[in-house]
Amino acid sequence: MDLSIQDITYCKGVGTRRADILRKELGVHTALDLLLQYPYKYIDRSRFIYIHEIDNEDTYVQIKGTITEYHTIGIGKGQRLVAIFSDGQNTIELVWFKGIQYLKLQLQTPYLLFGKPSAFNHQYNFVHPELTPLSKVTPEMTSGLEPYYNTTERMKNAGLNSKAMRSIIFHLKEELKQGLPETLDMDLVHQYHLMGRAAAIYNVHFPKDTPTMQQARARLKFEELFYIQLQLLRQMKRREQNAGYRMPIVGKFFHQFYRECLPFALTGAQKRVIHEIQDDMRSGKQMNRLLQGDVGSGKTLVALLCALLAADNGFQTCIMAPTEILAQQHMQTIGELLKQTDVQVGLLTGSTSRKQRESLHAALRSGQIHILIGTHALLEDEVQFANLGLCIIDEQHRFGVAQRSRLWYKNERPPHILVMTATPIPRTLAMTVYGDLQVSVIDELPPGRKPVQTLHYTLMRRQAIYQFLQQQIDKGQQVYVVYPLIKENEKLDLQDLQNGFEEICQQFPQYRVSMVHGQMKSAEKDEQMQLFQRGETQILVATTVIEVGVNVPNASVMVIMNAERFGLSQLHQLRGRVGRGAEQSYCILLTRVELSKDTRQRMDIMVATNDGFRIAEADLQLRGPGDLEGTQQSGLPFDLKIASLATDGQLLQVARQAAMDILDKDPLLEHERHRLYKQHLDLLRMTAVNWSDIS
Ligand code: ADP
Ligand code: MG
Repeated sequence: MDLSIQDITYCKGVGTRRADILRKELGVHTALDLLLQYPYKYIDRSRFIYIHEIDNEDTYVQIKGTITEYHTIGIGKGQRLVAIFSDGQNTIELVWFKGIQYLKLQLQTPYLLFGKPSAFNHQYNFVHPELTPLSKVTPEMTSGLEPYYNTTERMKNAGLNSKAMRSIIFHLKEELKQGLPETLDMDLVHQYHLMGRAAAIYNVHFPKDTPTMQQARARLKFEELFYIQLQLLRQMKRREQNAGYRMPIVGKFFHQFYRECLPFALTGAQKRVIHEIQDDMRSGKQMNRLLQGDVGSGKTLVALLCALLAADNGFQTCIMAPTEILAQQHMQTIGELLKQTDVQVGLLTGSTSRKQRESLHAALRSGQIHILIGTHALLEDEVQFANLGLCIIDEQHRFGVAQRSRLWYKNERPPHILVMTATPIPRTLAMTVYGDLQVSVIDELPPGRKPVQTLHYTLMRRQAIYQFLQQQIDKGQQVYVVYPLIKENEKLDLQDLQNGFEEICQQFPQYRVSMVHGQMKSAEKDEQMQLFQRGETQILVATTVIEVGVNVPNASVMVIMNAERFGLSQLHQLRGRVGRGAEQSYCILLTRVELSKDTRQRMDIMVATNDGFRIAEADLQLRGPGDLEGTQQSGLPFDLKIASLATDGQLLQVARQAAMDILDKDPLLEHERHRLYKQHLDLLRMTAVNWSDIS
């Protein structure tokens, strides 16, 4: 029977109740769906060890031996059963806390013990190991790798644990041998030395050894990444066929600004990316480009020069920022830079008054405004342009593909899109999450910057740090002190911030201190920020609201309290707030004494490097792509079930190339021999859509 239409209800070991749970919890409807639930790990059951070989708590092991004695200790709830297990040479303790009454241990019977050792009082023991009399151990049980499956809480409650899943899937083994239709062209399978699909699915569930399992997984990962790339690149090709506005002229606005207003020479990297963007803008095709550049690399100036190019060709530009503060700051910077020119700039945010809004709308429609800076507010339908030609989106990782596409309808043809991000994105993410964009990178900081020195101390050293701050402020510098603020315990955090603020005020009675946090009214926040910006306050105590955009070159120290509660990219963003002036700057990370291994690594990386790309890579490795792997958050066209963006970078590159080769010859997948691809993409898209309907 065709596995793709075989209802799971009738699979052996399932039945109506479990089928219902499988559908709801995993979206599994058919036998094939079930086979597409890949194991997340394997345990090697073909190896047996001796007790003296146990050397860690991380791996499951198997030992053959007998029980030499056992007894129960304690009574009632605290009761436990302790047995001594011997492999003939050494002994080890086995402990049970639960189900003792069901345990029928036999002395002298040879057993196979299976479990994960734990260390207790400097000795290893096993808690709740699996014991099977050797006479009942079948060759199947110990023939190779045992797969483990993800399950949910509800599944476990219904007895659908990993073992049950293994057994249900095991019953499909014979049927699977009859084969499954391919989802990749045979040429491709051969070209990349891939395992066939049926064999791969067979071996991912029932591998005889590690190399076979790895080959099977590689094939399935390839397929997954290949289809994601095919989808993204097809979108890109499709859009490349979109006519875009042609902007060939470099005219008065650009030249005048470049000659008379440019405050400094552009860096080589700035020049290079402007050329890349300019090439797109005059190509006649619609640009979709991602501009990556570390904090402080000078993206604003690049954005402005591109907007001037658009203006020279009779087009308007909108620059969109994720927060009000950032939009205002862009307005200030750009307004200042354009002071001596005839270029008109407008600002539109959530707090723009109705009256201002109306006159702004009119000025936009008449074409009087060349550049509109704003927040999400400018996505609204009533915001209409005379001739929008370029959209620049700053700090894009905060909004999704759907929002991006709303900008397309603001003119007859979609405007050019330039997405700017200050969080450098690891290559794998750039190729997937932004896989439909061309990429430009500013990999050079403006000259004369002194790298920020990063130091890590425990909170116990606070007093010494305060002394250091004192010295810095005495020299005329300013200081940020940042406290964490996360949603879950906002109240507690605010209290921390308040206490911190008071402590700082007490420590530095001769100085003035500003405070900002997300709960303040926007006017109040602005006032506090401005006091700091003008140098009237010397210390700014804040939550992460200052993470993006704030620019105070005279501030040279960033103190981050409870730095263990911040992610790497957040720490890096915060650090980017200092090091903007001529003085040596410092970033001081203060943490608890006891740190988890992960946290320690995060702090070490921060201390070791200022390179945003290295930090982004490390972040991906440590944290895993996490949320980014869910389609909804990330804009990935399909969920990843087996491939990982953290570890499969190379395979991703190969898969992207394979997809590119196909689309280069057949951009819209119209050839008969690519019908398979087209059909499979449709199928994947359908399931992706169904999923979002359900959840
Ligand atoms: P980001 O890329 O983080 O948005 P900004 O555009 O805010 O960076 O630039 C950071 C600082 O560097 C600003 O103060 C800006 O004026 C300055 N800057 C930008 N380009 C140059 C340059 N070529 N030479 C010197 N300073 C520059
Ligand atoms: Mg910026």
